[in-house]
Amino acid sequence: MLPKERRSLAAADAAIRRARKEIDWLGVLPAQAAQAVLKTYVQAWKNCWEGRTDAPNFKARFRTVMSVDVPQGRDLNITRVHRNWGMVNIPKVGRVRFRWTKDLPIGKRANADNRITGARLVKDPLGWHIAFRVQTQEPKPVPHTGPEVGIDGGVTVPLALSDGNHRTHDQWKSTKNKPNTWLTGDEQAKLLRLERRAAQRKQHRRPGERTSNRLRTTYDQIAGLRARAKRRHLDWQHRTTTAIAQHYSVVVVEALQVTNMVKSAKGTVDEPGKNVAQKSGLNRSISQEAWGRTVGMLTYKLASHGGTLHKVPAPGTSQRCSACGFTTPGSRENQALFVCKNPGCGWSGNADHNAARNILHLYRMGHVLIPAAGRAVVRRAKRVKPTAAR
Ligand SMILES: [Zn+2]
Repeated sequence: MLPKERRSLAAADAAIRRARKEIDWLGVLPAQAAQAVLKTYVQAWKNCWEGRTDAPNFKARFRTVMSVDVPQGRDLNITRVHRNWGMVNIPKVGRVRFRWTKDLPIGKRANADNRITGARLVKDPLGWHIAFRVQTQEPKPVPHTGPEVGIDGGVTVPLALSDGNHRTHDQWKSTKNKPNTWLTGDEQAKLLRLERRAAQRKQHRRPGERTSNRLRTTYDQIAGLRARAKRRHLDWQHRTTTAIAQHYSVVVVEALQVTNMVKSAKGTVDEPGKNVAQKSGLNRSISQEAWGRTVGMLTYKLASHGGTLHKVPAPGTSQRCSACGFTTPGSRENQALFVCKNPGCGWSGNADHNAARNILHLYRMGHVLIPAAGRAVVRRAKRVKPTAAR
């Protein structure tokens, strides 16, 4: 609410200092917590003014991920009490135990170049998690000398590699009896039961009535199962992308096209796709989100291993033959099999493998898209307010 020329972090800081004296409950909060919130808030507005995002809006009480920042690492006093457990001081909470999953620079290993500068507490349906901010000196990676590879986010194989070393998660594969990936049969049965129970309880709720504790418990149980599935998926993605970044120097993927995947699910008139409704709805959004995350992980992991990620334009990679380079109609027999119908060729193989080989070929021919890093800022046209609002 300050005039434009006085909108700075310092002015906002002064305002919150004064407010802490005048408003009792604000004064009870630790000063750092208020400042951390303020800092995030100012950054959100800066992002908006510089055209990177929309204006910040209110958080939803139940939907938004709950998180608390601990802005300083000085008082955390982290100790390791067991191979799997550590203890940490959280302001206003006290000493708590946490699962030790990663090496932290504490004790002798902490120095000016390698230290913990803060933490963040995040709540998800499975409980509270703590993430530590660590400041380290990363050595500049030596250029990677491994082979090049093209990767396609496939239909039959989760990640199809151009050299034939596909990455799958067969243990968590979805089948006819087990439609959801990342859950065991028992867990799926439980999820279905809970969803039915939630639907039943919802029926008895009149409009405007608040959610009963029983219904909320059921919702929490459903969210817990989904979070478990997501955690398994993330784990697989991290392991897979780390292994890829360690082995290959250049990874080529296709630039994502939204309409592309809808078409492949629908199929053609002669050859209708299978499970169209499923694929074009929730599953598609999940698989797209997952693919985006895989590419994101590959980008930073390759960079830290001295490799690079390239994107090539997508059209035709799944229809063209990777052996002769011709697009002959009907070559893609079905979702899984590719048999080249070019009389002089006749190559056959996994359809996803074929696409991955095409992607690598496009890169070798020099059809690489310019990296998006330099032009990440997209300015939106300023909306003109209606006359009444001016
Ligand atoms: Zn061919």
